[in-house]
Parts: sequence; C-alpha cells; structure tokens
Amino acid sequence: MTSPFLFLKEEIEKEAQLMFCYKCGKSVKPIVRLLPTLIGTVEVEYLCPVHKIVLAKEIREMKLPKREVKVAKGLYISVDGIDGAGKTTFAKELVKLLKMDGFEVLYVKEPHIPAIKEFLYKYDIDADAEVYIFATDRIILQKTAVIPALESGKLVVSDRSIYTSIVYQSIRGVDEEFIIGVNRGVKYPDIVFILDIDAELAYNRLKKTRDSLTKYESLDFLKEARKLFLEIPKKYSKLSKFYILDASKDVKTLAKEALTKIKENI
Ligand SMILES: [Zn+2]
Repeated sequence: MTSPFLFLKEEIEKEAQLMFCYKCGKSVKPIVRLLPTLIGTVEVEYLCPVHKIVLAKEIREMKLPKREVKVAKGLYISVDGIDGAGKTTFAKELVKLLKMDGFEVLYVKEPHIPAIKEFLYKYDIDADAEVYIFATDRIILQKTAVIPALESGKLVVSDRSIYTSIVYQSIRGVDEEFIIGVNRGVKYPDIVFILDIDAELAYNRLKKTRDSLTKYESLDFLKEARKLFLEIPKKYSKLSKFYILDASKDVKTLAKEALTKIKENI
C-alpha cells in the first residue's frame, strides 16, 4: 500500500529542480528525504543521489487527514479563565438567562469524558501527552455534541475551550504552535468570555471550596494563567470575538452583561 507520505515524497522528487553538488562538481537531480515534525509540517531535504549530502532544505505542510469543521448555524460561546474565577456558576447562570429568552441552548464542559478527566487528575502526565489527551476529549465532544447542536441552530455554551489548553499547556512548557497543531480542525468558539479575576482572590476561593488543589491551582500557576489569558484576545482576534469580564462582580450582573453581548452578535 502506498502511504500518502510516500506519495508526497515521489511528487516532490518528480518536480524537484536540478541542484548543484560541489562533490559531483555539477548539477544533479536530487533525491528527497522527509522528516515529519509534530506540528503538521514536514522538513524536506534534497540530497545528492551519489554523495547523499544535503543540497537544500524546506518546510512543507504534511498531508494529514482533514478535520475541517462544517459551517454551523448556531453560536458557539465559551467561558474561559483561571480556576476559581467562577466559570461554572457563571456559565450555568448564562444558560438560564438564554433559555428564559427563548433560546435553545446546549451546555457542555471540558474535559467532557469522565474517564479522561479521571486519568488527567489522577496521574502526573507528560505535558506534551496532556495536549493530545485534552485534544482527544475536545474532538469527541465537538463531533458528538457541539457541532450537531450548532448545525440545528442551537447556542452552545462551553465551560472552557481550546483557549484554556493554549494557556495551561503553555505554562507547562509546551510550544503554542504544537498545541495549535495538535488541535488542528478543532472549532474555535465564536464568542469567548474571559472571566478575569485577581489570582490571589481566586486562590482563596479555591482553598475555601476544595479539599485539595490540583496542579493547575497553585498561586503561581494562577498568576501566570491570568497573565496569559489576558494576552489571548490580541493574538486570536481573527478566530473569535472576546469579551473580558470582571469576575469579582456578582454572577447575576455578569451573566446579564454577557447576555447583552451575545444578543449583539446574533
Ligand atoms: Zn554529488
């Protein structure tokens, strides 16, 4: 069986220009070696067929299975921000208000699959591997629930989104490009509410309400995460519309503010 990878190699070899090999002392038709990277690209090396030395290099897109998301009619709304900002309470209040206004709403929460959630919290997992695990959960959630709901015209309110992965896994030392590469084809939210709160305030809230804190809930982690969440809107303004909400306010007031913003976008 010819893999798409081999096909790409043959294709590149066929169209390759003559290149000068200093050992041959003349131009030769190069052979190609492919080095796949983890972010959906492939490094192409052109070699002299006789001396096997590298004559040129370039980066190309790798042929990967397409994960394109169909155009959806509904509105995909996410609530992101640090732990302790009150995302879940806010999201539920927002869903309540939207339903009172007659909207059909689906509420979802990432991570979605109980077994994945348990695995993530129970074990200390390598940061790169964690990116794949969160992406796996997200892809399944989107394909089975989010996309069908959007296609039927519903609003989807998601507690967390890809933006939380970008922030959290970056802090754990993973390149942002790698996170985006692994999440290729994932649908980005249309509207993002970032609940912004002072890290110490969030930390104190968490200490009061939790028996034990996870690796994402140390004060240093919360401080770094808050900083990165505030940088997200600038970087991703082409993909989503962002609203930063002051999460020290009362949840009912915040949900009303959010409802107004959503209506402006329908
Ligand atoms: Zn040569």
